[in-house]
Parts: sequence; structure tokens; C-alpha cells
Amino acid sequence: MIQLQDLTFSYGQNLPVFEHFNWQAQRGEAWAVLGPSGCGKSTLLYLLAGLFLPSGGKVLVDGIPIERPRPQSGLIIQDYGLLPWATVHQNASLGLRVRNFYGPDGKHTPQDFIPEQDVLPWLKRLGLESVADKYPGQISGGQRQRTAIARTLALKPDLLLMDEPFSSLDAPTREGLQALTLELQQEQALTLVLVTHAIEEAALLGKKILLLSQPPNIHANVIDNAEVGNPEYRHSARYMEVCHDLRARMEIP
Ligand code: ADP
Ligand code: MG
Repeated sequence: MIQLQDLTFSYGQNLPVFEHFNWQAQRGEAWAVLGPSGCGKSTLLYLLAGLFLPSGGKVLVDGIPIERPRPQSGLIIQDYGLLPWATVHQNASLGLRVRNFYGPDGKHTPQDFIPEQDVLPWLKRLGLESVADKYPGQISGGQRQRTAIARTLALKPDLLLMDEPFSSLDAPTREGLQALTLELQQEQALTLVLVTHAIEEAALLGKKILLLSQPPNIHANVIDNAEVGNPEYRHSARYMEVCHDLRARMEIP
């Protein structure tokens, strides 16, 4: 589904973040992209989202070079991107509103309605019904993240891109949302690319892990983590082993 072919990307005249980089992901796979701060994780996600264009090479999704954001790709940016003056319900409806207003081809069509049947089931599924009329400032971090997830999934994406989605949450909330993300990924047959700097999170969510290092990234370092998805995985010896291996590869003592 995703192919990076000979990808080179640099910010202006700076050294490239990616240089002749090749990587691919199949439809329906759950990937974690792991690496230290500044290695290029967000850059990669924005390239996949079509928000940045390669300096060289190609980013292909379903064989098509990405030149602008693709309607079937859902992006959840760091810190959720919610509108503070809109309620949970309005925020969850925002993606659909924009899509209906501009139409799937980006041309303006003068209709502005929200098909409630596309939003309400997501508020319910993500446990947000009781806070639907509250504003982001009145709800918890976990509820904010779930609102961002509802907004994105209401658009029925086939590719879900998440940038450090759980890094500012407390541990129990984070663990709950990690489990929910895996559940939704399987239930909705999503291709998932989740960016994180946390080894444990990559090992828990990535059936495959793409390990990035300090730029320039030239080779795709991929770790198989096939047992992900089993609810007991978090407590298994294999999981500990993968974390240990990742720590060694990242040269963390
Ligand atoms: P990560 O998400 O892994 O922390 P980024 O993708 O944000 O890393 O950044 C990768 C590298 O590119 C870093 O060295 C960062 O300083 C640099 N960088 C990021 N954004 C810009 C920008 N807008 N202009 C110039 N350099 C940038
Ligand atoms: Mg980042």
C-alpha cells in the first residue's frame, strides 16, 4: 500500500533527513515508527500524509504518487489539533463537515450538513457521549485524544497516521488507548503508521517496527514483531525480548 522509493527529503539547504530511502508497508499492517527526537518521525508522517513533498524519489500510496493530502488517509497530529471553541461533538464532526463542504474532489459544493449517523456511533464507541457537549478545555487528555480519533475515524480512512498520540497521557489512560487503537486497527482493517519515541509503545503496537536514527536515514531498519495483538503480549517474555533488542539497537544502556 505504501512505498517510499529512493526518497530524499531535506528542509531547505539543511542536511537531508532521508536520503535515497526505501521502505514499504502492506495494506492492513500495523507499523510503529520508532526513533529518538529529531530523527525524522514527524517528517516521515507528513510525507505520507501529502503535507510535505519529497525533494527526490517518490512516496506512493496504492501505486499513486502523493502530491496532496489523500481523502482516505487520516492524520492525528501531536496534541490532537482540536478547536478549543468547539464542543466534542462539533470537533468530532469537523472532518466530515469540511469534506461535505468542499466535496471529495476539493471543489466547493454548497451543502453543509453532518450525517449524524456517521458521527454519533463513533462518540458512543469511544465513550464520549456523556461529554459530547463539553469543550476540549473541560475534558481529560484521554477524552481529547479519543475526540481526535472519533473525528478521524468518522471519515472512514483506510490509512491511519498518528504522531506520538499518547505521549502526554498518564500511564493507565495511555494503556487503555493503546489497547483501543489495536482493537480499532483490526476491526476497521486499517493500515496503521504510529510514530513514537517510546520503545515499549513501539513493541506493543507495531507488528512491524521501522527504526529511524539520526539523519540522514539511508537504510530502513525493520524489526518483525509478529505476536502483537494478543492481549497478554504485554506480559510475555517475547515482548521483553523485543524491548531489549530495540534498546540495544538504539544504543540505550
Ligand atoms: P522527530 O519527529 O523524529 O522528532 P522531525 O521529523 O520533527 O523529528 O525532525 C527531523 C529533523 O528535521 C530534525 O533535525 C529537525 O530539527 C529538522 N526539522 C524539522 N522541522 C524542520 C523545519 N521546519 N525546518 C528545518 N528543520 C526542521
Ligand atoms: Mg515529531
